[in-house]
Amino acid sequence: ATPTSIMAGSGRAAENGVLFKGGQYLESTGAVETILLDKTGTITKGEPAVTDIVPAPDWTEQQLLMHAAGAEQSSEHALAQAIVQDAAQKNITLQRASSFEAVPGKGVLAVTDTGIVAVGTSAWLAERQVAGMPEGAENEKLEEQGKTVMGVAVNDRFAGWIAVADTVKETSRRAVERMQAAGLEVVMITGDNEKTARAIAAEVGIDRVIARVLPEQKSSEVTRLQREGRRVAMVGDGINDAPALATADIGMAVGTGTDIAVEAADITLMRGDLNSAADAVLMSRATMKNIK
Ligand code: ADP
Ligand code: MG
Repeated sequence: ATPTSIMAGSGRAAENGVLFKGGQYLESTGAVETILLDKTGTITKGEPAVTDIVPAPDWTEQQLLMHAAGAEQSSEHALAQAIVQDAAQKNITLQRASSFEAVPGKGVLAVTDTGIVAVGTSAWLAERQVAGMPEGAENEKLEEQGKTVMGVAVNDRFAGWIAVADTVKETSRRAVERMQAAGLEVVMITGDNEKTARAIAAEVGIDRVIARVLPEQKSSEVTRLQREGRRVAMVGDGINDAPALATADIGMAVGTGTDIAVEAADITLMRGDLNSAADAVLMSRATMKNIK
């Protein structure tokens, strides 16, 4: 590649909101074969809102939400913010939490006046041996609708489910189509459960899903694909995506996401629209073609 064509290519890309951190990335991005897309905030808007509150017997919606929001008020997770916001909208006074612990990829644990409150995945509550977990598939029904369902336990007794929905960006489906048309294998990667992930993947036309990945394991999944001999790009927005963005052959950070993701990546997508990720691949190929 000549320096002039690389400079021209980088300039054109920048005009389209795709910032390559160096000419070498403009040269190599077109060779990517598999592209991993983070779900929350990358494929979806990342603005989850509470849709369903399903209290256990002996609990009211109010009580359930009060306890969950009390536990979540110190968490920065988007799911936590959805719960706290819903409680505020309903004028529910939160329980003060005297201690708080976030368990990455699983949930939160807080000590309040009424006891120990856990909010998180059903698998995590089961792991904590919470009593009275329902056998029924209420949570699974909500997950099949693409909602993320969190269980709430107070003093290790099940208190109910809270479901949250996040909408797919209008541009995501078309972007996935363009990536597939360019011959890329498109894979969704998420910490969320399999059912919810599959429902969202289906909305945008993705067949391959890697779900229930703990935050520190996203980069191991990248490595696993690389060992299969694939050249891998990763697109993400969150702090938990940063190691995977750094490990991937090409990391692309959604510019509307966290600074840490932007720092770890090779390309910044200024528009928060996944079409820019497809553009990055196509512009790289076009640049390299002009050179030959
Ligand atoms: P994602 O990859 O979608 O950003 P995370 O890895 O952060 O997801 O979390 C995975 C799952 O762990 C969530 O879908 C949720 O069920 C649970 N979880 C994580 N943090 C919290 C929290 N603060 N409150 C409740 N549940 C949580
Ligand atoms: Mg994300």
